[in-house]
Amino acid sequence: MSIFRPALAGSLLSALFSTLPGVRSMSAQGGPKPALLVFITVDQLREDYLERWLGQFTGGLKQLLDGGAFFTNGHQDHAITETAPGHASVMSGRFPRSTGITRNIAGVNNDPNAPLIGVNGLSASPFRFRGSTLTDWLTTADARTRALSVSVKDRGAILPIGRSRQQVYWYVGTTFTTSKYYGDSLPDWVKAFDARHLPEHFAGKVWDLLLPPASYSEPDSVPAENQGRSIMFPKTLPGDSALAASALPATPFMDEVLAAFALDGVQQLGLGRGPETDILAVSFSPTDYVGHAYGPDSREIHDQIVRLDRTLGRFLDSLYRLRDRSRVIVALTADHGVTPLPELSQQRYSPPPQRVNVRPAVVAARAVLSRAGADTLAVELESGALIIDPARTGVTPALSSAAADSFVATARRIPGVLLAERFAALAAHDLGKDAIARRWVQMFPPDVPVQAVITLTRGSYWDPYPVVMHGTPHEDDSHVPIIFFGAPFKPGRYPQFVRTVDIAPTLAQALGVTPTEPLDGRVLTAALK
Ligand SMILES: [Zn+2]
Repeated sequence: MSIFRPALAGSLLSALFSTLPGVRSMSAQGGPKPALLVFITVDQLREDYLERWLGQFTGGLKQLLDGGAFFTNGHQDHAITETAPGHASVMSGRFPRSTGITRNIAGVNNDPNAPLIGVNGLSASPFRFRGSTLTDWLTTADARTRALSVSVKDRGAILPIGRSRQQVYWYVGTTFTTSKYYGDSLPDWVKAFDARHLPEHFAGKVWDLLLPPASYSEPDSVPAENQGRSIMFPKTLPGDSALAASALPATPFMDEVLAAFALDGVQQLGLGRGPETDILAVSFSPTDYVGHAYGPDSREIHDQIVRLDRTLGRFLDSLYRLRDRSRVIVALTADHGVTPLPELSQQRYSPPPQRVNVRPAVVAARAVLSRAGADTLAVELESGALIIDPARTGVTPALSSAAADSFVATARRIPGVLLAERFAALAAHDLGKDAIARRWVQMFPPDVPVQAVITLTRGSYWDPYPVVMHGTPHEDDSHVPIIFFGAPFKPGRYPQFVRTVDIAPTLAQALGVTPTEPLDGRVLTAALK
């Protein structure tokens, strides 16, 4: 029985209700209110991995797939499918156009007020992130809510939580740390975890296949993988402990360390004990590192995913021993997928993928500025977006426009270019049907001076690009799993088209809180009891 509608569950009502003595907190669906949301992002997880290796899962992925609401046609519905914009969308319910996190290089780094604590490395904070996330909606409703977010990557840990100053940690060199945005020193429990030097204990560790070799249909010896280096199993981590610890993120063993760190945090911080809902967010990064080296059709990524399943199983089982299972809910998704190497996908797509050098289009844009005596460094092409900085010497709106027109005209003559267009013209496309135009439109806030965009044919790569790639608006990079698991959700497979921006409003509804700003996403009511 529903005791209040989420629309009526303002902060006052829910705060009041949760403090009534002897009355158990209830969710919008009528069950006990979840005490802990476990939000899992797997960095670079294609949806088809779960379909391909389903029969080999015995751990956490099996548990979530068997007992959860699995949306099989979920997408990061924006064009630049990189880690930073993906992580910024999953718990905000908003596209990059609204979060302001548009690219990795304009993500979390280089905040002069947020140096790292205790180690050297890039400063990091959510200073570019705009608006709120589920964490803010929960803390608005109940100030006791706390969040712990961990990842190997700064952007993977920071962006799901937004601007909230919570417990946020990532891995730098050989230890977990944070930045001054979150505090002046590391808490004792993080220092104690680092002092165990767990990552260094993997020195000399061998990564071999988890299952018998016959379980893997992928060839192991593929020279195009990992630039021809270390392409065969087994693989051995360096014997030197510091070198092993810094190499660890590119192996499945780092997922085990992340899980151990997250579980330690849950215990030390007492998350999921109180009447409020706490958040544990974990972004498991190694799948991304393995994927960039070996690609989506490799024996390495297959073994990585099977091992991730086992690690997630031990992680969830440990969590259930610590906390009341009936009051834990889990959501799992990914920040993006990945595109196979063009050399390995010639038969898969039509036209056959190629490596495309779009530099002549940039040269054409710069030539327009140069002829007018303007600063040619105003022109930047990054991740398919042509940005022309209006603050540079001599750059006028008319000149920017002429340079962008020249860029588009030149790009359209380059084989392998699918779409080259002025950014402002994209809104006129049928955005319901034209996913690529829609994803570009949903990409940039109005204050980013993007003049034109370019998308290659499906499967094609920028030339030169040395490793396996993601970052395009195509299905390979956009299609990700979305799974909800726990008492409020109706188990089953859901084939409808949904977006990662739908995750946060759906969780908000399940947790009985109201978003504090308009969202792009909508509640996936089909999955809710
Ligand atoms: Zn990523």
